[in-house]
Amino acid sequence: MKDTELPYLRRCVELAAEALEAGDEPFGSVLVSADGEILAEDHNRVASGDRTRHPEFELARWAAAHMTPEERAAATVYTSGEHCPMCAAAHAWVGLGRIVYVASSEQLAQWLTELGVPAPPVRTLPVNEVAPGVVVEGPVPELTERVRQLHSRFHRS
Ligand SMILES: [Zn+2]
Repeated sequence: MKDTELPYLRRCVELAAEALEAGDEPFGSVLVSADGEILAEDHNRVASGDRTRHPEFELARWAAAHMTPEERAAATVYTSGEHCPMCAAAHAWVGLGRIVYVASSEQLAQWLTELGVPAPPVRTLPVNEVAPGVVVEGPVPELTERVRQLHSRFHRS
Protein backbone atom coordinates (compact mmCIF):
# COMPACT_ATOMS: atom_id res chain seq x y z
CA MET A 1 0.00 0.00 0.00
CA LYS A 2 1.22 3.52 -0.84
CA ASP A 3 1.25 6.37 1.70
CA THR A 4 -1.09 8.28 -0.62
CA GLU A 5 -3.76 5.68 0.19
CA LEU A 6 -3.74 6.35 3.95
CA PRO A 7 -6.41 9.11 3.69
CA TYR A 8 -8.90 6.55 2.38
CA LEU A 9 -8.26 4.36 5.40
CA ARG A 10 -8.53 7.38 7.73
CA ARG A 11 -11.93 8.06 6.16
CA CYS A 12 -12.93 4.44 6.90
CA VAL A 13 -12.01 4.96 10.54
CA GLU A 14 -14.04 8.21 10.60
CA LEU A 15 -17.03 6.35 9.19
CA ALA A 16 -16.57 3.65 11.82
CA ALA A 17 -16.60 6.36 14.49
CA GLU A 18 -19.80 7.79 12.95
CA ALA A 19 -21.38 4.34 13.17
CA LEU A 20 -20.42 4.14 16.83
CA GLU A 21 -21.94 7.59 17.50
CA ALA A 22 -25.14 6.33 15.85
CA GLY A 23 -25.21 3.32 18.19
CA ASP A 24 -23.93 0.87 15.63
CA GLU A 25 -20.92 -1.41 15.38
CA PRO A 26 -17.84 0.58 14.33
CA PHE A 27 -17.09 -0.47 10.77
CA GLY A 28 -16.61 1.88 7.79
CA SER A 29 -15.61 1.38 4.14
CA VAL A 30 -14.98 3.41 0.99
CA LEU A 31 -15.03 2.40 -2.68
CA VAL A 32 -12.35 4.13 -4.77
CA SER A 33 -12.05 4.16 -8.56
CA ALA A 34 -8.89 3.31 -10.49
CA ASP A 35 -8.07 7.04 -10.69
CA GLY A 36 -8.43 7.62 -6.95
CA GLU A 37 -11.95 9.09 -6.73
CA ILE A 38 -14.15 8.09 -3.78
CA LEU A 39 -17.28 6.73 -5.49
CA ALA A 40 -19.26 5.55 -2.48
CA GLU A 41 -18.85 5.08 1.25
CA ASP A 42 -20.87 3.59 4.08
CA HIS A 43 -20.75 2.40 7.65
CA ASN A 44 -22.32 -0.45 9.54
CA ARG A 45 -26.12 -0.22 9.94
CA VAL A 46 -26.96 -3.46 11.75
CA ALA A 47 -28.57 -1.60 14.67
CA SER A 48 -31.63 -1.40 12.38
CA GLY A 49 -32.13 -5.10 13.17
CA ASP A 50 -30.85 -6.34 9.80
CA ARG A 51 -27.54 -8.01 10.61
CA THR A 52 -26.51 -8.11 6.93
CA ARG A 53 -26.18 -4.30 6.71
CA HIS A 54 -22.38 -4.30 6.53
CA PRO A 55 -20.73 -1.44 4.59
CA GLU A 56 -18.71 -3.78 2.35
CA PHE A 57 -21.91 -5.55 1.28
CA GLU A 58 -23.58 -2.18 0.50
CA LEU A 59 -20.56 -1.12 -1.57
CA ALA A 60 -20.59 -4.38 -3.55
CA ARG A 61 -24.27 -3.82 -4.38
CA TRP A 62 -23.59 -0.17 -5.26
CA ALA A 63 -20.75 -1.24 -7.57
CA ALA A 64 -22.93 -3.82 -9.31
CA ALA A 65 -25.59 -1.16 -9.97
CA HIS A 66 -23.33 1.71 -11.04
CA MET A 67 -20.04 0.41 -12.48
CA THR A 68 -18.99 -1.60 -15.52
CA PRO A 69 -17.20 -4.92 -14.92
CA GLU A 70 -13.92 -3.26 -16.00
CA GLU A 71 -14.40 -0.35 -13.57
CA ARG A 72 -15.20 -2.74 -10.73
CA ALA A 73 -12.11 -4.88 -11.38
CA ALA A 74 -9.89 -1.76 -11.31
CA ALA A 75 -11.46 -0.32 -8.13
CA THR A 76 -10.22 -0.70 -4.55
CA VAL A 77 -12.33 -1.13 -1.41
CA TYR A 78 -10.75 0.32 1.73
CA THR A 79 -12.24 -0.78 5.02
CA SER A 80 -11.65 -0.40 8.75
CA GLY A 81 -11.96 -4.16 9.29
CA GLU A 82 -11.31 -7.06 6.95
CA HIS A 83 -14.42 -8.25 5.09
CA CYS A 84 -16.45 -11.00 6.79
CA PRO A 85 -17.20 -14.12 4.67
CA MET A 86 -20.57 -12.67 3.53
CA CYS A 87 -18.98 -9.44 2.31
CA ALA A 88 -15.94 -11.20 0.82
CA ALA A 89 -18.34 -13.35 -1.22
CA ALA A 90 -20.35 -10.31 -2.38
CA HIS A 91 -17.11 -8.48 -3.29
CA ALA A 92 -15.93 -11.42 -5.40
CA TRP A 93 -19.33 -12.11 -6.99
CA VAL A 94 -19.56 -8.56 -8.35
CA GLY A 95 -15.94 -8.68 -9.55
CA LEU A 96 -14.48 -5.89 -7.44
CA GLY A 97 -10.70 -5.47 -7.27
CA ARG A 98 -8.28 -5.05 -4.43
CA ILE A 99 -9.14 -4.82 -0.72
CA VAL A 100 -7.09 -2.83 1.82
CA TYR A 101 -8.10 -3.18 5.47
CA VAL A 102 -6.89 -1.56 8.71
CA ALA A 103 -7.53 -4.48 11.07
CA SER A 104 -7.67 -8.16 10.14
CA SER A 105 -10.54 -10.47 11.04
CA GLU A 106 -8.08 -12.37 13.21
CA GLN A 107 -7.23 -9.20 15.16
CA LEU A 108 -10.91 -8.32 15.56
CA ALA A 109 -11.76 -11.84 16.76
CA GLN A 110 -8.99 -11.62 19.34
CA TRP A 111 -10.16 -8.20 20.59
CA LEU A 112 -13.76 -9.40 20.89
CA THR A 113 -12.64 -12.50 22.79
CA GLU A 114 -10.69 -10.26 25.20
CA LEU A 115 -13.83 -8.12 25.64
CA GLY A 116 -15.92 -11.23 26.41
CA VAL A 117 -18.14 -10.85 23.31
CA PRO A 118 -19.83 -14.14 22.28
CA ALA A 119 -18.61 -15.72 19.02
CA PRO A 120 -20.49 -14.54 15.91
CA PRO A 121 -22.85 -16.91 14.05
CA VAL A 122 -20.59 -16.83 10.96
CA ARG A 123 -17.06 -18.19 11.14
CA THR A 124 -14.22 -15.66 10.98
CA LEU A 125 -12.11 -16.35 7.89
CA PRO A 126 -9.48 -14.41 5.94
CA VAL A 127 -10.90 -12.93 2.71
CA ASN A 128 -8.72 -15.21 0.58
CA GLU A 129 -10.25 -18.31 2.17
CA VAL A 130 -13.57 -17.18 0.67
CA ALA A 131 -12.37 -15.29 -2.42
CA PRO A 132 -8.94 -16.65 -3.43
CA GLY A 133 -8.55 -14.36 -6.45
CA VAL A 134 -8.86 -11.03 -4.62
CA VAL A 135 -5.68 -9.06 -3.84
CA VAL A 136 -5.82 -8.22 -0.11
CA GLU A 137 -3.54 -5.93 1.91
CA GLY A 138 -3.46 -5.25 5.64
CA PRO A 139 -3.33 -4.85 8.53
CA VAL A 140 -2.17 -1.22 8.61
CA PRO A 141 -0.45 -0.69 11.99
CA GLU A 142 -0.70 3.16 11.91
CA LEU A 143 -4.48 2.96 12.38
CA THR A 144 -5.05 -0.41 14.06
CA GLU A 145 -5.04 0.89 17.63
CA ARG A 146 -7.69 3.49 16.79
CA VAL A 147 -9.96 0.75 15.39
CA ARG A 148 -9.35 -1.42 18.46
CA GLN A 149 -10.42 1.49 20.69
CA LEU A 150 -13.66 1.98 18.74
CA HIS A 151 -14.60 -1.69 19.18
CA SER A 152 -13.69 -1.53 22.85
CA ARG A 153 -15.96 1.53 23.31
CA PHE A 154 -18.83 -0.17 21.48
CA HIS A 155 -18.74 -3.36 23.52
CA ARG A 156 -18.15 -1.67 26.88
CA SER A 157 -21.09 0.75 26.47
ZN1 LIG B 1 -19.48 -8.24 6.37
